[in-house]
Amino acid sequence: MFAKKTVRDVDVQGKRVLVRVDFNVPLSDGAVIDDTRVRAALPTLRYLVDHGARVIIVSHLGRPQGKPDPQFSLRPVRRVLARLLGRNVHFIDDTVGPDAYEAVERMVEGEILMLENVRFNPGEKANDPEFARRLAGLADIYVNDAFGAVHRAHASTVGVTEYLPSVAGMLLAREVETLGSMLADPEHPFVAILGGSKVSDKFGVIDALLDHADTLIIGGGMCFTMLVAMGVEVGRSLVEPEWVEPAKKMLDKARDKGVDLLLPVDFVVAECMVEDAETTIVGRAEIPADMMGLDVGPTTTELFKGSISSARTIFWNGPMGVFEMTPFETGTREVATAVARNNRAVSVIGGGDSVAALKKFDLEERVTFVSTGGGASMKLVEGSELPGLEALADRE
Ligand code: ADP
Ligand code: MG
Repeated sequence: MFAKKTVRDVDVQGKRVLVRVDFNVPLSDGAVIDDTRVRAALPTLRYLVDHGARVIIVSHLGRPQGKPDPQFSLRPVRRVLARLLGRNVHFIDDTVGPDAYEAVERMVEGEILMLENVRFNPGEKANDPEFARRLAGLADIYVNDAFGAVHRAHASTVGVTEYLPSVAGMLLAREVETLGSMLADPEHPFVAILGGSKVSDKFGVIDALLDHADTLIIGGGMCFTMLVAMGVEVGRSLVEPEWVEPAKKMLDKARDKGVDLLLPVDFVVAECMVEDAETTIVGRAEIPADMMGLDVGPTTTELFKGSISSARTIFWNGPMGVFEMTPFETGTREVATAVARNNRAVSVIGGGDSVAALKKFDLEERVTFVSTGGGASMKLVEGSELPGLEALADRE
């Protein structure tokens, strides 16, 4: 059960409610090219509007250097939000200055005001108490619905909670509950699929999953460090030498815990990582010295699909290969399709690139849950504390 108070546990009628959302969306030529994160915030925003709150939205976007930078303005997101909500969204070019305070002053019940990118202020990332106090001064209640940002202790995720009653939004609650119950009480067999580029990024995640999963499938760039740990030569494939020893410990842990660890048995290899690469398929012990493994091979895919199809719980993070390029996308496509086809399993997908892969193959609607938080979902799975979540009021 979700241990924090949520927006449903407080009276918001007529109140000024500061909602931290994660509108860190991809932009191209000033237009939002993926509105998933905006859509994800709609249930909380609609709830607040319907319950007569004065809704003040705060978010970050990109990595401006602590000062205003037009390319990271949230203004384009305002339009998208207004369209999705079907109502007016006010925007102010300010976050905690007199203009922002005046704009809030003018708000009536059910209105929405979006503040400019909170990272235009150096106090945000520094979690500066004075900046957090100014932000809090705009509102009566604080709601955190920014799952993608809860692993960061910034002014708008942690600092602000010192000054206001602070509760979770619906997205945050759902993310934490879904990932939490997947680990705490999964239906078995629980198959975890890990890939992506580096083993160093995901070490804590692998370690945690070995405590919960029945089968652990490892593909992507990270599998080569594992293979080196087993004494396999992998040519010029991605290897992190300083992680070979820790990888050996992982292999031991899998054996001790009785987790069925599946590593690739063949690869798509090429000399270069390019769109028109010449590729060959080789067994895992036959990777030529001048080539690199850039996708898992067909025998591997069949092996992985066998486990995936009989799973009752599936967690997938990390592409099986360099799915961004056509010659190396098949492994990821096949695995994603197998996950989507298993209707009897609860399937949870996390990680920015994994979700991008799911979208590329148009399978997003066919899985149970797609996490909106890349880094945050990994932190949650590995059991690290999420400062933005911890800071919220506990349910009595
Ligand atoms: P996520 O964002 O889903 O957590 P990661 O960021 O860990 O995933 O990894 C994604 C990246 O891993 C992709 O850009 C992909 O190209 C890369 N990748 C996958 N397999 C390989 C490989 N064999 N060699 C190099 N890079 C790989
Ligand atoms: Mg990534």
